[in-house]
Amino acid sequence: MTPLERYIRRRITLEGPITIGDFMVDALGHPEHGYYIACDPFGRAGDFITAPEVSQIFGELIGLWVAEVWQGLGSPDEFALVELGPGRGTLMADLLRALKVSPGAMEAARIRLVEMSPALRARQRKALSGHDVVWHDTVYDLPELPTIFIANEFFDALPIRQLERTGNGWRERVVAIEPEMDRLIVTLAHGPSPLEPMMNDGIRDEGAIGDIAELSPASWSIATQLGAHLALWGGAGLIIDYGHGGGVTGDTLQAVKDHQYAPVLEDIGLADITAHVDFGKLAAAFVEGGSEYRAFTSQGGFLNALGINVRAGMIKAKNPAGAEAVDATVRRLIGEDQMGTLFKVLGVAAPGTPELPVLG
Ligand code: SAH
Repeated sequence: MTPLERYIRRRITLEGPITIGDFMVDALGHPEHGYYIACDPFGRAGDFITAPEVSQIFGELIGLWVAEVWQGLGSPDEFALVELGPGRGTLMADLLRALKVSPGAMEAARIRLVEMSPALRARQRKALSGHDVVWHDTVYDLPELPTIFIANEFFDALPIRQLERTGNGWRERVVAIEPEMDRLIVTLAHGPSPLEPMMNDGIRDEGAIGDIAELSPASWSIATQLGAHLALWGGAGLIIDYGHGGGVTGDTLQAVKDHQYAPVLEDIGLADITAHVDFGKLAAAFVEGGSEYRAFTSQGGFLNALGINVRAGMIKAKNPAGAEAVDATVRRLIGEDQMGTLFKVLGVAAPGTPELPVLG
């Protein structure tokens, strides 16, 4: 039993079954044993590979996107360049290299990283040495500046709650201790859930018995706050993650360890735990904060429109021996059977912002 499982069992013994959201917060963010606190999850040797770790082209294309958005904002003298959940700092490092094509934007950028993990902050400091970087615990204290933000695989790590339709209406799914086998299980809470009014109307009214609805109030409050920040100070943002447009049911909670799916309730603290992002709800939360929803597209479509093949061609021309490897990483990022379709891109902006490059 991992130390984190011991901690969670003690918590359940004292306070009763805990929500899936509380379970995720402990599994990922417990100050001593949480997955993002204690492990280095990314890359080939880690548990999973994210797009910026697949290829430098990913961050570079986003850098070009940022340069154009900055221009669209009227080339402000100062702007906050914010990344949420920067992991190893790879995306921001690649982005900044490409941002140099626009010396004005580079000069104006104030780099702000929202990161909860001290270990990952240290990684980011290393990856971004030579740049002035300021870290934030939350999105609630971002600077009062026009803001361009990026969130890649950030929202999928935020806690979700699950409701299951039963013969007696919707009940929340909770983590409990099953006494006979003395193990953790997912079971149903007694009585109705206060989350019911926040459900998608169609699912709430028409869900069949056994259907599972996922809600992420934690994601919505961050999105609403960011939406309000953009509305007040100007700016735009990109959210890239795996997920769907909303209005669907199903249990998407998953654990990954050593590049393999793993049972969610085992090896707690040693496996990454994520859930699919409901982009419909997320976009609505940005709009509630006062921002505009601009586009929802696939990662493949977005990177193609930004010219991933042109960029790959330039890299291959410089190093023909590596051409095959470059082609393979491009396929990985945009291939329909790989990250190209499952991963989605949401573009949001303050009202009055001109069209965002390739997103409208
Ligand atoms: N964007 C990176 C890493 C994604 S993993 C990449 O694409 O490789 C999720 C990241 O979000 C990690 O850096 C994790 O520590 C951070 N994170 C998760 N929940 C957070 C929260 N509530 N507040 C701040 N950072 C968080």
